[in-house]
Amino acid sequence: MFDASQPARPGVLHIVATPIGNLRDLSQHALDVLKTADIVAAEDTRTTQGLLNVHQIQAGKLTPLHDHNEEIAATRLIEALRSGQSVAYVSDAGTPGISDPGARLVNAVRTAGFEITPIPGPSAVATALSVAGIEGAWLFYGFLPAKPAARRKVLESLVAAPHALVFYEAPHRIEETIDDLYAVLGGERTLLFARELTKKFEQLHACTLADAPGWLAADDNHRRGEFVLVVGAPTTQLDESDVEARRVLEILLEELPLKQAAHLAARLTGARKNALYDLALTLKEEK
Ligand code: SAM
Repeated sequence: MFDASQPARPGVLHIVATPIGNLRDLSQHALDVLKTADIVAAEDTRTTQGLLNVHQIQAGKLTPLHDHNEEIAATRLIEALRSGQSVAYVSDAGTPGISDPGARLVNAVRTAGFEITPIPGPSAVATALSVAGIEGAWLFYGFLPAKPAARRKVLESLVAAPHALVFYEAPHRIEETIDDLYAVLGGERTLLFARELTKKFEQLHACTLADAPGWLAADDNHRRGEFVLVVGAPTTQLDESDVEARRVLEILLEELPLKQAAHLAARLTGARKNALYDLALTLKEEK
């Protein structure tokens, strides 16, 4: 019979994806590599030890590599590769390098001239997209900034993108992020909440951005766990000048009555006054 087993190779860095919830989502290939690598570097060695225990794997030496020691740990791993050892890297959950440590390690190892190989597997972004029904292009942003002003600025830069948008979010910030998505992207676009994927309380909920804050508020459980947020592409495409007109209008609306703000925004940007007046009405209603 064909033997597909591929143990870890000497002098090679193996980037190994691990489960995002259901621990049985670890591939046979990942098991082969984790069983045979001389060194398993991990974002959190205790988390990884738990995964290894579930799969009854006696791994090689476990060593930490996380956001705060990535450079120093990478230097040590390069020394190990140089001495002919095989190295595997795993983050806490999912695919390393996707909103997780791993990029600096990969860059350092590539610069040092050693081979790198991916062992594919779960990632929350791909898992959510597989059930989102997005047909066109999508843009993965990951975590939005924690500070409201910075978060809104990023969202404003994404308003006109003709793509679906994919974000990661943690439970303690889910409400403010949803409020900002609604305020900046408008109420019409679709949103898929992909919560606790592959776990016991997995939940998929599709709605519009206008309905999203109400759904979150309706049940404490809706705000628990880990989230991927998939926002559908805009149905009507805004061009660059529309985006600028909207930005100017939003600023003026903070200081002026609606009619005056629309009038002034039209003079400043050259956009049609009536269109801006309608937009101002919508923005006021959304507030
Ligand atoms: N490297 C991981 C990957 O490939 O998906 C992502 C790690 S990032 C630190 C953690 C974030 O991913 C969570 O805050 C959440 O937004 C998302 N995530 C991870 N597991 C998830 C799950 N089971 N369900 C929904 N979102 C998840």
